[in-house]
Amino acid sequence: MDFSKTGRLCIGGKWVETDKTKDIINPADASVLSKVYAGNETHVDLAVKEAKEAFKQWGVSSVSYRAAILFKIADLIEKNSRELAEIDTLNNGKPLRDSLGDVSDSAACFRYYGGLIDKPSGQVYSVPDPNMQSFVVREPIGVCGQIAPWNYPLMMAAWKLAPCLAAGNVSVFKPSDLTPLSSVRLFEIFEEAGLPAGVANLVMGPGSVVGQAISGHTEIDKVVFTGGTDTGRKIMTGAVKNIKGISLELGGKSPCIIFDDYDLEAGVDWALFAIFCNQGEVCSAGSRLILQDTIYDKFLDRLAQRAGQIKVANGLEEGAEMGPLVSKAHMETVLSYIDIAKKEGARLICGGKRITEGKFANGYFVEPTIFADCKPDMRIVNEEVFGPVLAVQKFHTQEEAVELANATVYGLAGGVFSNDISRALQVIKAVKAGITWVNAYHPTFAQAPWGGYKQSGIGRELGTFGLDEYTEIKQININLAAGKVGWFA
Ligand code: NDP
Repeated sequence: MDFSKTGRLCIGGKWVETDKTKDIINPADASVLSKVYAGNETHVDLAVKEAKEAFKQWGVSSVSYRAAILFKIADLIEKNSRELAEIDTLNNGKPLRDSLGDVSDSAACFRYYGGLIDKPSGQVYSVPDPNMQSFVVREPIGVCGQIAPWNYPLMMAAWKLAPCLAAGNVSVFKPSDLTPLSSVRLFEIFEEAGLPAGVANLVMGPGSVVGQAISGHTEIDKVVFTGGTDTGRKIMTGAVKNIKGISLELGGKSPCIIFDDYDLEAGVDWALFAIFCNQGEVCSAGSRLILQDTIYDKFLDRLAQRAGQIKVANGLEEGAEMGPLVSKAHMETVLSYIDIAKKEGARLICGGKRITEGKFANGYFVEPTIFADCKPDMRIVNEEVFGPVLAVQKFHTQEEAVELANATVYGLAGGVFSNDISRALQVIKAVKAGITWVNAYHPTFAQAPWGGYKQSGIGRELGTFGLDEYTEIKQININLAAGKVGWFA
């Protein structure tokens, strides 16, 4: 990608320039990495018009045609994997090994939905009237507005666009204003793969303008969003106008529960991965460690020691394990939560500061931070920090562990670690969350549904459930007996 060129919107197959540009910042050193054009309501209107036109063909196109294009997109993502990963690392800050994983998952997502779309779907019913045959088919919804966050720029675009396009819908897609660069590159790949003009439209611009215009647009049939819970509320309000369908993947404050019978070294290893991977900027992060009292002190000593060894560095640096946070504003939010936790009396056992020495001077780096002895009413336990900050709570009995785990308005994810499989299953079944793991944390698969309970969202992405979200259900009833109904004389 040529970062000296200003990234353009893509509407109706044309690359569009606007009268406004936005600087795109590299969070590792606060330098201007590139620029993109910023759109507004007019560009959303135009994109909707082009999408509606494209839907006339794409919505009735053959599944093998659509699958072939999705497979081509997957191939091209893989062919350009190094470039795409470097773009996300430079723009988001995450280590290159993380970005390479995201690129691979993005290709897998397009391939999965390309493969799913011609598999059996629908249902046939036996109804009381023997002359009637009833069945259900799934049809594309139409124009989908899709709004993505900044923590997994390419992968979130893939999770949204792959099932949407596979099901025969058309899209008006908005990446985060902070991290649009890999989306611009993805739309170049769409063009190269032969995706017809107008099927997917890229509209950059501020969430308060472009995002708001998408959620409130009366000719957009569905809005799909990943981001913060407060923004999710605004999306719901906008969607009310034309009662459009909504799928929301929002925040979390997910529990990672560890019992004393689980291997301590392995438990520490998973707990670190649960919170600190991707700088903790993960909706499903295990941001609350719920630890059994019998291993509490020993476990925390080792956890703090290991966290202190995490290699925080520019994401492009060899061996980088944690990069900078995505933006100055977000770093300041995270640092303010660290202050709040200290004031509320949580015990800081690791980290707690911005890193500013030497090469870190201008970047948005924050140390991996752990607070022990957290109490249920502390803000650090209840609010999503979305950064490398772990809150640790102590439990004695299994019942207490479950009670602490569920004491949140969120319900996105959760993990339990125990060698007693009956206990692990009892606990995980009692955790009110949509994505859960036993003796693991974070593995995510294109095949399995992703989404939350409670204030973590509505609907599911990925898997067959994720495809269903992009379809309308139609019942078709066929009268096998010719003749009149005879209801009126
Ligand atoms: P937002 O929820 O604001 O951003 C997510 C997306 O929504 C972006 O594309 C953003 O655009 C867009 N957006 C913002 N405002 C509106 C609006 N009024 N209508 C429609 N779309 C809008 O996330 P923030 O960056 O503000 O982060 C805030 C918090 O949200 C984080 O600290 C974290 O707790 C949570 N979050 C959760 C994520 C998840 O994966 N569940 C991902 C990101 C954040 P733009 O970038 O242009 O503002």
